[in-house]
Amino acid sequence: MKTKLPLLSLIAAATLSACSSTDNALYFERTQLEQDISYLASDDLKGRKTFSAEIDVAADYIAQRFTSIGLQPMPGAEGFKQQFDLHSVTPKSVSVSLNNQAVKTESLAVVSQSDGFAWQQADELVITQISADADLREQLRKLNQQGGNHLVLVNKAHEELFTRYQNYFNNGLTKLELKDQGAMVLVLGYEGEVKDLDVKVVNEVKTQQLTNVIGILPGKKEDADVVLFSAHYDHLGESKKDQHGHQQEEGEEQDSIYNGANDNASGTGAMLNLAQHYARQGDNERTLMFAAFTAEEMGLIGSKHFATTQNPDAIAAMINIEMIGKPSPFGSGNLWMTGADKSDLQAVLNQSLPLENHIQANPYPKLNLFYRSDNASLAGMGVPAHSFSSTDMANNDHYHTPKDELANLDFESIYKSVTLLAMASEPLVSAKATPSRVAPLKDNAEGKIY
Ligand SMILES: [Zn+2]
Repeated sequence: MKTKLPLLSLIAAATLSACSSTDNALYFERTQLEQDISYLASDDLKGRKTFSAEIDVAADYIAQRFTSIGLQPMPGAEGFKQQFDLHSVTPKSVSVSLNNQAVKTESLAVVSQSDGFAWQQADELVITQISADADLREQLRKLNQQGGNHLVLVNKAHEELFTRYQNYFNNGLTKLELKDQGAMVLVLGYEGEVKDLDVKVVNEVKTQQLTNVIGILPGKKEDADVVLFSAHYDHLGESKKDQHGHQQEEGEEQDSIYNGANDNASGTGAMLNLAQHYARQGDNERTLMFAAFTAEEMGLIGSKHFATTQNPDAIAAMINIEMIGKPSPFGSGNLWMTGADKSDLQAVLNQSLPLENHIQANPYPKLNLFYRSDNASLAGMGVPAHSFSSTDMANNDHYHTPKDELANLDFESIYKSVTLLAMASEPLVSAKATPSRVAPLKDNAEGKIY
């Protein structure tokens, strides 16, 4: 509550100074911001699920907004849509027999990035026994890093964790690029030496197209590094009746659409209106890049692809906006950021803000949020890339439910948050400040098999 007045006066000051074209003028409209978010979160878009027809409608909408704002496509691109392939590999049929005894399907988990494989020679495989007191997760991580063909005999004591791997593998792998570097067959509860085996696995390999939407606002300064503003625009789609294990009661009106109003129509609307703000302001020294990422909910896939198309050294900072649809625990309109200790971006942004509106460090350190949103795809390459949110993650009952819908958004708070981001980013946009880099991750995190 106590932050309400200062921010309102900040907005008033900004609005007042609009005609004098100072740094603090605001050039976006609350009505447009509300319209963007309301459209993206509407039932018509059915939760913007990756691969749905509706997410393509959302991409069209974002591209049209980029056009009307006056952004340009990335150099060399024909339009705003950055299209790319995503491959999925899902087990279709699996049969395993060990020492002439068939193994039941429920005791099997298989994974590889190929369209299938057949094994008849036990001595051509690496066979590993996982005892009751071994660390299954760590063992599998090591074998995955090694690559090659592995038969893993898992003690029954690990049944619970085994089942989780089984579900994970049965859901299929999704990869930007397929690399067949071996396979793994896990068998639960098999004891003893394996002399003979017969393994046949057929996978279904599918390739589908995905779309990021990217627009550029060229800066006045030539050869300057760019500032990236981003938000993911995908969400979870619609629930199947039995998704949560219960049937719809007769006469009960059940909302099946995961609108993702907060997650992340709010962030996408913010990104669009920041583009509007800077395009109208028209004096950005640095080039600004605006990105709407797809398939964040499937594992940061859109931003991972985007990262492969960029020179990370040319990106001065990334402001990724995630779930700003609700008032923050630090007051309506205020924001917190992930990974505040990993670069000095927080200090850079707070330069332009009144103390009452300072961007706070992530108050939920245990949730590991820095690595759970699209900023991670670029932070791993050294970019000072952080996510900005207002959501109280300790009291967020609507998270990933059909209740994350328009009725539960706070547009006053959203408007203030976008205002705050526009002002906070000014030192970046004007190239007066350059944040320190994040320590890049060593890129051995990906395994070879899965
Ligand atoms: Zn989400």
